Amino acid sequence: METRRTKILATLGPSTDPPGRLDELVAAGMDGGRINCAHEGPDEWRRRADELRAAAERAGRPLALLVDLAGPKMRLGSAVRPRQVTAGEHVVFSCSEPVPSGAVPVAWPEFADAVTDGRSEIVIGDGTPRLSVLETLDDGTVLARCERPGTIGPRKGIFVTYVRTPASSFGEKDLADLTVAVEIGADLVALSFVRSGQDVRRLRGALESLGGRARVIAKIEKVEAFEALPEIVDVSDGVMVARGDLGVEAGVARVPLMQKEVIRAAETAGKLVITATQMLESMITQPEPTRAEAADIANAILDGTSAVMLSGETTVGSYPVEAVRAMAEIAFEAERGAPFSLDVRAPVASRPEAVMQAAVHLAQQVQAVALIVSTVSGGAARAAAKYRPRLRVIALSEDEVVRRQLALEWGIVPAWLPPRASTLDMHRASMLDRAREVGGLSSGDVVVLAYGPAEAGPSETSYLAVREIP
Ligand code: PEP
Repeated sequence: METRRTKILATLGPSTDPPGRLDELVAAGMDGGRINCAHEGPDEWRRRADELRAAAERAGRPLALLVDLAGPKMRLGSAVRPRQVTAGEHVVFSCSEPVPSGAVPVAWPEFADAVTDGRSEIVIGDGTPRLSVLETLDDGTVLARCERPGTIGPRKGIFVTYVRTPASSFGEKDLADLTVAVEIGADLVALSFVRSGQDVRRLRGALESLGGRARVIAKIEKVEAFEALPEIVDVSDGVMVARGDLGVEAGVARVPLMQKEVIRAAETAGKLVITATQMLESMITQPEPTRAEAADIANAILDGTSAVMLSGETTVGSYPVEAVRAMAEIAFEAERGAPFSLDVRAPVASRPEAVMQAAVHLAQQVQAVALIVSTVSGGAARAAAKYRPRLRVIALSEDEVVRRQLALEWGIVPAWLPPRASTLDMHRASMLDRAREVGGLSSGDVVVLAYGPAEAGPSETSYLAVREIP
């Protein structure tokens, strides 16, 4: 039985709310739901989280809940007079009160301290106008030259590259939203506008003090984040190629190669990577994807993304179910051409990783139809997914949170495992039973089992066995 390996994350919103809609989305191929904290509030987030859990229960398979913290989104002041800015024109921005005459007010008190003279660019709205910072003047105003024309207007978003401010991308609103995320049992938490590993560490610290178990996803949408990619990948559990804001900051033309590099860095490190934004944008209003959109999804899959994401298509679109179905079909077809199975002789960072590398290699050598992993923290299953193996990876765990987190990992079929049997023989038998039930395996199918000793804790997978399904 061939199945799709790339996972689908659908953002929840008004278009996923009608009764029965989530069931249709799950049937169409949705593997997880995203709550975007930039919109609505805790009451809607709680309700949607409950509805997602209920839909997973009805479908009999785990669905991941990702809560996306909005991070700092800076805006122009409300007194900005709408006007066209032309190429070469000098524009003065100000965050001080009163605003000097002729200056454009910015509703971001640290703005003048944040820009780097001669290096930062200021980008407004969806990407234009784009201005280069010439100098910060003594009165707290910033002089910039327009490089690409566009229109400024009140409350438009303002993006600054190479921000110098020490303020974290994890602010007070994010802390309040994180508290809600923990309360509603978020399986993953994403942070917007990350600039460095330090931002991710702050989020992780806050999450730990709230007692949350969510995995931490850094959204790569600032040029600084792209430049600090190795450090950010290292301290995060995964990354998101947030192509919307990344395209605004870096310019749309740079996004495709940046996407490839982010995916490659995450995949090599064995981390989750989600490719997001405008994947099926036309399906907000049309029931069929464009050929360019199909090619874009296929390309992300050929790059090696773990998951693809829908935003407006499922939150406010007219065809949310069709969008998930189209994504699932395109992914399935693209996977036929994907260069799966990374080098199983690559160096590994730890003994558990070495065991799972050997497990994937062994499974390929004996032409097993599935690799069945008994996992406590999910780490062993993730270590196998890193290689993007052609065979199915069935991850069995007693832990419900781990099963939900694994729902977004490439190629992993997460399923419940009964409490650990007292002998290894019984444990292996129970793994084979469950794999047959959830993986559609038949008697005689060759499988490789990976598991730990009795009472195994996380990272203790150390046994491999080749078996046939009884
Ligand atoms: C993006 O910018 O691409 C993104 C995913 O972030 P958001 O939807 O929060 O703007």
